Amino acid sequence: MSNRDWSRRDLAVVWHPCTQMKDHESLPPVPIRRGQGVWLEDFDGNRYLDAISSWWVNLFGHGHPHINAALREQLESLEHVLLAGFTHGPAVELAERLIRLAPPGLSRCFYADNGSAAVEVALKMSFHYWHNLGQPGKTRFVTLSNSYHGETLGALGVGDVGLYRDTYAPLLSAPIIVPSPDCYFREPGESWESHSRRQFQAMARTLEERAGEIAAVIVEPLVQCAGGMRMYHPVYLTLLREACDRHGIHLIADEIAVGFGRTGTLFACEQAGIRPDFLCLSKGLTGGYLPLACVLTTETVYRAFYDDYAARKAFLHSHSYTGNPLACRAALATLELFEQTDPLTHNRDLAQLMAEGMASWADHPHVAEVRQTGMILAIELVLDRRTRTPYPWQERRGLRAYRHGLKRGVLLRPLGDVLYLMPPYVITPEEIRFLTEVAGEAIAVATER
Ligand SMILES: *Cc1c(COP(=O)(O)O)cnc(C)c1O
Repeated sequence: MSNRDWSRRDLAVVWHPCTQMKDHESLPPVPIRRGQGVWLEDFDGNRYLDAISSWWVNLFGHGHPHINAALREQLESLEHVLLAGFTHGPAVELAERLIRLAPPGLSRCFYADNGSAAVEVALKMSFHYWHNLGQPGKTRFVTLSNSYHGETLGALGVGDVGLYRDTYAPLLSAPIIVPSPDCYFREPGESWESHSRRQFQAMARTLEERAGEIAAVIVEPLVQCAGGMRMYHPVYLTLLREACDRHGIHLIADEIAVGFGRTGTLFACEQAGIRPDFLCLSKGLTGGYLPLACVLTTETVYRAFYDDYAARKAFLHSHSYTGNPLACRAALATLELFEQTDPLTHNRDLAQLMAEGMASWADHPHVAEVRQTGMILAIELVLDRRTRTPYPWQERRGLRAYRHGLKRGVLLRPLGDVLYLMPPYVITPEEIRFLTEVAGEAIAVATER
């Protein structure tokens, strides 16, 4: 079977995510035969460097021997059992480990099976907590402009990326949207910290005035990933934690994309020295192997649900595959790799190489900004650098970059006109040189007239 055979059969039956299927008339889906390290190989023998970690899930490369071995071993004993009334080693050990690693004060782990589901769990738990405490009027959620928290109806309901939200708006709850601290919009010469502090004023006012109706604030700590890898300073999170405490409002940290080292620390919240009331994790949790998510929360929240059955305070939320043993085992193996290989230290050098490789593009007439937080580097392509006027979206400049990348053996998948690098941590310095070279070419191709 060749690429052509597989893509023909695919297009006859598979409906792909986040895709206008008609686009595949000119650019068929790439059938992948195997993955090894940062490389994916198709059925015609072409290789692609996975520069976006397969939608941000992969941490230690494809086909990692340690995770493979752990999964094989787990497969021999237990593939799955329901997590209601039953439990198993991997679910217990993973909860213990995550609680040890997370900011102190998070002591309970609720499992789900994808990121959006974790967000739904956090929203429901926060609302239900206030309900159990006799404050049922706290029903609203505060979110940042341009934020993304997933695409099921509840998660989409607290997001603000028009591309995903607008069509479904009539089905969605109305969050309270507060301007993001996004430092792309800072004044010329202004520091990230100063801009993020200034942007906090709107949040401070909202929390002050509407505390009685607000259950929680939900944020993507440090990087709004799906919103175009927009970044801000940790001081915003520190101020937000203080204000939430002052007004009796929960803080939900959605670290589904930024968790597990992407921003330079294991969790992004660490850079602000804060502990959220709910920490949502997924994506990198299993090293990119299997769907799994969890919400870590505090003893205070847990206690508000703990009572005699007749008090009817239990948290009733369940997914069939909650805490799947294979997925938990992949997550444990992934956490073992954090211990054995110290990627956070090693990543500092890799992040520096990424920065050096892209630095010369910062002055390009169609590059508004090259920005970076840890292992996430983004390049914002615009029509006019001085006025920061975006390209008309119909021109699909990012798609040109994508096509060029594929031709040269690099999987880049820009978010609109934002090209970004977010590779697995096993990438070598030589592979970074290749990646940044091709990314540079892709910028040139995307911004040609
Ligand atoms: C990807 C993502 C989600 C949704 O996770 P899925 O597993 O794709 O449902 C939620 N929040 C953030 C910040 C994400 O990046």
